[in-house]
Amino acid sequence: GELGAEQNGLIIAHFGQQLDVEALEGEHRGQVFRCFVRANIDSLVTGDRVVWRPGKSETGVIVARCDRNNLLERPDNFGALKPVAANIDHIILVIAPEPEPHDNLIDRYLVASESADIPAVILLNKSDLVTDNNRTAIDALLNRYERLGYQVVRTSAADSQGRPAPEVEELVRDQTSVFVGQSGVGKSSIIQTLLPDEYLRVGAVSESTGKGVHTTTTARLFHVPGGGNLIDSPGIREFGLWHMTPQEVEYGFREIRPLIGLCKFRNCRHMGDPGCALDAAAENGELSLERLKSFHRILQDMAQQQARGLKLN
Ligand code: GDP
Ligand code: ZN
Repeated sequence: GELGAEQNGLIIAHFGQQLDVEALEGEHRGQVFRCFVRANIDSLVTGDRVVWRPGKSETGVIVARCDRNNLLERPDNFGALKPVAANIDHIILVIAPEPEPHDNLIDRYLVASESADIPAVILLNKSDLVTDNNRTAIDALLNRYERLGYQVVRTSAADSQGRPAPEVEELVRDQTSVFVGQSGVGKSSIIQTLLPDEYLRVGAVSESTGKGVHTTTTARLFHVPGGGNLIDSPGIREFGLWHMTPQEVEYGFREIRPLIGLCKFRNCRHMGDPGCALDAAAENGELSLERLKSFHRILQDMAQQQARGLKLN
C-alpha cells in the first residue's frame, strides 16, 4: 500500500515513541525519516541497525532490528537495565592534567567498558598543560594503562584552532565512538572540533528553546566529516559512574580477572583476606599496587553505598 520496500537503516536519535532512521541504501540514502515502530520489536536505541519501510513525507515504519555487536545499558534506581546505545566500536576515555586524573575514576570507566565488552582507548587531552611538575606522574599513569593493553593517545584541543587534531581524526575514522570522562577534561571541546556544524546546530536548538524537533536527552548519532560516527548524550559521558556490581568490578580489572579463581578460600572478598591471590600478585610485581588499591577502593565505596541504602530502606 502506502509503504515502500523494506531496506536497511540506522537509528540516529530517539524521541519518545518515534525514532529517526537514516536510510543506508537506495534512492533516499543519507536522508533521515521519522519512524514509528511495529509493536512486536523490543527496545530500540541509537546505533541500532534496523529494517524499515519508507512512508509519506519523510516518515516510515521500522519492522525489524538487526543483531547487535554490543549494547550500553544503564541501570535505573531499581537495578533494572535500560538500553542506551548500540554497536559502539570503542569508548574514548578522556583524561587531562587538569582536572587531575584519579586512578579510581579511570578504573571505574574501564570497568564499565570491560563489562559492556567495548574496547576503551585513553585519550590524554590538554597535552599543552604537561609541565616538568606533572610529567613524571602523567607518564607513569599512561604507561601503567599501556602495559595493560589499553591504547593511549595524546592530544590538545586547544592547539588545533578549531580544526580536528590529526590523531583524534584518525582515532574516530571508520569507527563508532563514544567520548566519556569527568567534567572539565575537554570532551565538548574535542567533539566540537570533529563536528563543527551539525553538533553546534543541534546543541543550539535544544538549549535555546528547551524544546523542538531536535530536543533530546537520549543518545544521538553524528557523522564526522573526516569519517566515523560519534554517539553522544550528557548521560553517556558519565557512564563509568553508573551503578556496578562487585562481579562486574572483578571482571572489569582485566589483569585481576584471571586471578580471582586462585585465592585460597572460595569466599575470599579480595580485601586483604588470608591467601588472597591478588595480594600475592601485587607482592611479586604482576599486579600494580595502584590498580590493587583502586580495586579495593571501588569495592569499599560500593559496600558503603549499599550499607547506606539498606539503612534508608
Ligand atoms: P568537558 O566538560 O569534558 O566537556 O570539557 P570542556 O570541553 O567544556 O572543556 C573544559 C575547559 O578546558 C574549557 O575551558 C576548555 O576551553 C578547556 N580545554 C579544552 N581542551 C583544552 C586543551 O587541550 N588545553 C587547554 N589548556 N584547555 C583546554
Ligand atoms: Zn582474593
